[in-house]
Amino acid sequence: MSMIAFEEAYEMVIASAETLGVEEIALQETLGRIMAEDVFSDLNMPPFNKAAVDGYACRKTDLDSSLEVIEVIRAGQEPQKKVGPGQCSKVMTGGVVPEGADTVIMVEHTDEAGENSIRFNAGKTATNICYTGEDIRSGQKVLSKSTLIRPQEIAVLASVGAVNPKVFKQPVVGVISTGDELVEPDEKPSPSKIRNSNAAQLLAQVERCGATHRYFGIARDNEDDTRSKITLALDNSDMVLLTGGVSMGDFDYVPKVLDELGIGVKFKSLAVQPGRPTVLGMKKGKYLFGLPGNPVSSFVQFELLVKPLILSIMGNSYSPVVLQLPMGETFQRKKAKRKSFIPVKIEDGKVFPLEYHGSAHIHAYAFADGIVAVEIGNTTLETGQIVDVRHL
Ligand code: AMP
Ligand code: MG
Repeated sequence: MSMIAFEEAYEMVIASAETLGVEEIALQETLGRIMAEDVFSDLNMPPFNKAAVDGYACRKTDLDSSLEVIEVIRAGQEPQKKVGPGQCSKVMTGGVVPEGADTVIMVEHTDEAGENSIRFNAGKTATNICYTGEDIRSGQKVLSKSTLIRPQEIAVLASVGAVNPKVFKQPVVGVISTGDELVEPDEKPSPSKIRNSNAAQLLAQVERCGATHRYFGIARDNEDDTRSKITLALDNSDMVLLTGGVSMGDFDYVPKVLDELGIGVKFKSLAVQPGRPTVLGMKKGKYLFGLPGNPVSSFVQFELLVKPLILSIMGNSYSPVVLQLPMGETFQRKKAKRKSFIPVKIEDGKVFPLEYHGSAHIHAYAFADGIVAVEIGNTTLETGQIVDVRHL
């Protein structure tokens, strides 16, 4: 199986996505989930003509004379009186504007003009009324199926009383690290070992996508452990992310084990840097990504391929935030055979490549605002050239 272009891999990944069904969950659990239904409003927003300021509700034509205060209207209380000529009602922000009034003048724009009487003291005023239904009309569609739920969508759901919205089920994503050299982060590695950073990173990346995750530990570089961990993970997850063991080393058992387990491999080599030995396997509606062991490779390929797949499985068509900005300095590379992705920082609206030593240098990404692609055949990004920065 030969090396394929990143774009081709991306198409295959997205085409393979199938949603996992729908569930109703409590509003407060919906952050990061995807709507599985359109949501309609059961009321007008605001539900009544609402005072936008603390002030006096009155008739605009009366602003030249003093006004008799006939009532105080608190937020949450219905007005008892209609405002007539020469009259006003004191009203709090969020209170109902009484009948007869067409304007709410701000408290700050008034003076006392005797007992129970005020006078407008400013040259002009806004109306300061939020009109019934001006934000949302009763029956209006407020959220569409496939929308990603962020705090602002939660506010919309809450305001239309959608307390148990239908969302797509989230996949369980299993994570396995492979490597004899790995120790878990709470251990101090002996001279030939390194800490397993990929598992913690991937679990966090999965969490940020709104999926559930489960960690299956480190598979050592032998066939049995690799096979048993993959089997266990596949039995208990919808998708498995595996890092390391997918390249051409003497102890890279993953390709052999996938073959033995009957996992159909869609691709195993991409014309990208970092992340060439990235594998996508599928079996009975389950997905397995073999990501390269190098931390930047697994990080970047997660962002580029795994995240869009997880979100597609969750019912959302993911489109990353891309900023088009000029390069603040020139970037150069020697080879141009693969599409490469470089970490960048944005300063004063310009893009600066970060010092980056290659696919093990995850520390560089701790300073990165985004990733910029350098296309096949291109060696240079010139100062001033507009580039697409994929926001991280
Ligand atoms: P591999 O893909 O297994 O050949 O590993 C490539 C490189 O990534 C090697 O230098 C590994 O030590 C390193 N590596 C593999 N797995 C991890 C991990 N879980 N955390 C950090 N580094 C890793
Ligand atoms: Mg390895």
